[in-house]
Amino acid sequence: MNGKKTLINISLLVLFLSAILAKETNTEHASMNSSMNVRHRGINCFSASPLYKVNVKEKLIAFTFDDGPHPVYTRNVLKVLNKYQGKGTFFVTGQRAQSFSSVIKELDGQGHEIGNHTFSHPSMRKITSLQLQKEIQKADDTIYSLTGKYPVFFRPPAGIQNSAVISAAKKKNHIIVIWSKNQDPKDWANPGIETIVRRVTQHAEPGQIVLMHDSGVNRTQTVKALEKILSILSKQGYKFVTISDLVRQSTKEKTGDECVDLVIKP
Ligand SMILES: [Zn+2]
Repeated sequence: MNGKKTLINISLLVLFLSAILAKETNTEHASMNSSMNVRHRGINCFSASPLYKVNVKEKLIAFTFDDGPHPVYTRNVLKVLNKYQGKGTFFVTGQRAQSFSSVIKELDGQGHEIGNHTFSHPSMRKITSLQLQKEIQKADDTIYSLTGKYPVFFRPPAGIQNSAVISAAKKKNHIIVIWSKNQDPKDWANPGIETIVRRVTQHAEPGQIVLMHDSGVNRTQTVKALEKILSILSKQGYKFVTISDLVRQSTKEKTGDECVDLVIKP
């Protein structure tokens, strides 16, 4: 009799405890979801920062273009990307976005990605976190006014990462994007078309982020090199995608899940 009574008591206790546990778990989920809704809807794929390379099996490469937009060179880069059904990521300054707003609208309208490269391209060596936050915000506001979207990615000028850069990007909810090892062909120094082509193609691997420039003194070499690079790599089976696409593909390969866009609120 006593044994049976104890068993009933234990069962009741288990029932009681699991009810409490279920309640707590539900509450935790509810609060997690509501806080996630502020920035994320669905699976949060956009958390790793800084990005140098994204782990993908599919032959995808992300070409990125800094310091634009430029009314001539950015459009020439677009022509080359379009020829190979490629999408690029353009790290623009807010100042140039303001001056060449129609180029920004073309980039966005054609499905390319726009990243934040500060408003006025100041040196990162002596900047404070607060000064940089203002630079990022000003560029964000300019890009938002032209596209209705806030950039997700931030590339610090010269790829410098110090405590001010890291803290400002975090405060502004931006993911820092640098570039892959061996994928800085220094096209800005105009080393010759063939040199740029060789530097990019010889180390090409899936998931890489390539650094190029669509603004500056003269970017004719960059545009001509890009044409050759995309021709060579597309024959090897590569496709050219945005940084967001790389991240989405990586998640899909790892977990089978679809990412939902990271939405940065003002
Ligand atoms: Zn730059």
